Amino acid sequence: MEKIKMKTPLVEMDGDEMTRIIWRLIKEKLILPFVDLKTEYYDLGLVERNATCDKVTVDSAMATKKYGVAVKCATITPNRQRVEEYSLKEMWKSPNGTIRAILDGTVFRAPVLVDGITPYIPSWKKPIVIARHAYGDIYKAVDGKAIKGKAELRYTAEDGEIKTVTVHEFDGDGVVLAMHNTVKSIESFARSCFSYALEVKMPLIFSAKDTISKIYDGEFKKIFAEIYENEYKEKFEREGIDYTYSLIDDAVARIIRGGGGVVWACKNYDGDVMSDMVATAYGSLAMMTSVLVSPDGVYEYEAAHGTVTRHYYKYLKGEETSTNPVATIFAWTGALKKRGELDGIKELCDFADKLEKATIEGGKMTGDLVGLFKKDGVTPVKLSTEEFLDAIAVNLK
Ligand code: NAP
Ligand code: MG
Repeated sequence: MEKIKMKTPLVEMDGDEMTRIIWRLIKEKLILPFVDLKTEYYDLGLVERNATCDKVTVDSAMATKKYGVAVKCATITPNRQRVEEYSLKEMWKSPNGTIRAILDGTVFRAPVLVDGITPYIPSWKKPIVIARHAYGDIYKAVDGKAIKGKAELRYTAEDGEIKTVTVHEFDGDGVVLAMHNTVKSIESFARSCFSYALEVKMPLIFSAKDTISKIYDGEFKKIFAEIYENEYKEKFEREGIDYTYSLIDDAVARIIRGGGGVVWACKNYDGDVMSDMVATAYGSLAMMTSVLVSPDGVYEYEAAHGTVTRHYYKYLKGEETSTNPVATIFAWTGALKKRGELDGIKELCDFADKLEKATIEGGKMTGDLVGLFKKDGVTPVKLSTEEFLDAIAVNLK
């Protein structure tokens, strides 16, 4: 069989621990036998990040800007314990944070649905994709304790003009918080959401609380409405999908009652909370994929989970592991499909579709899914990490 040829390289970002092991196996067993794989390789493993003073992360993000599509393995975000474990020169920042800042993107998280694994909310037949605004609000807020006295918010314009509003007159102890966002960031967020919804042909909901937060959340609502009217409405109508603004509490009710098949754009905090709820409800974190989409159409695909440290330590001791590679496989198929689409290589898109279909068949799965799987006449079989990848390779062939 002749291998599928590629035109433009994918930006390949390798990672850490158990996912690094899986990364190599996926390439070796599921991709290289079928595709004449072209990648520009960046090793984002912690050892190499430390050796290059994290330059490799920045380089990989710049390459993603250049080529347009990247696939990333999970990476360690160092904490104090990791600084010791890896003798780090510094507590390097989260690679995802660095890449997101350079690409100015929005993260979309979508579950992989499998026949036999019913979400905790059984009416969710189709995926719910959460788009979380990843800038500002309480994540860049300043807060402090108050005692009896007056708390004020003071703003000094460039020309020196000062505006002051009273937050609260305290007659005892209390707390205060001030947060911000920027029009530029909200606009990027809105454009990424509209582009993504068009791409996956799913309706888009954006939710906030503008009835209470008239100016702050009101600004989000207004920006979404304007960008929709001016740039996306016609395209949405052509695809037969719609955009709705909804109060966050109404959105929650609609999501729970609905059947899925929607992109739900959330403000930063709402997205943080709701993405964990939605991921849990669909069954397993190991079945959640994630893609970073920049407003100018650059894509970076990855699994939503981490490096699965606990399994890696077992692996190092020579014990058997049963780590689920599905989200990482879908990161690869997402990236290959996008590359195929951009370069007009239909075989590459077809191959990615086939690989997705080959992932869970005939009741063979990893340990995390066995307890969740229920299908008449099929008894789930738990396989080790490597056995499971071999089973997929057989299906694929
Ligand atoms: P994690 O790697 O997502 O794993 C947490 C637990 O979830 C695992 O111990 C395992 O549960 C289960 N799990 C996650 N993925 C699985 C899979 N593919 N197959 C089977 N089970 C899976 O989170 P963590 O242990 O909190 O973090 C580990 C490292 O990953 C940290 O250094 C963190 O910085 C990094 N991280 C990276 C990213 C990223 O690169 N995007 C995201 C999150 C975390 P059981 O142990 O019960 O089997
Ligand atoms: Mg969270």
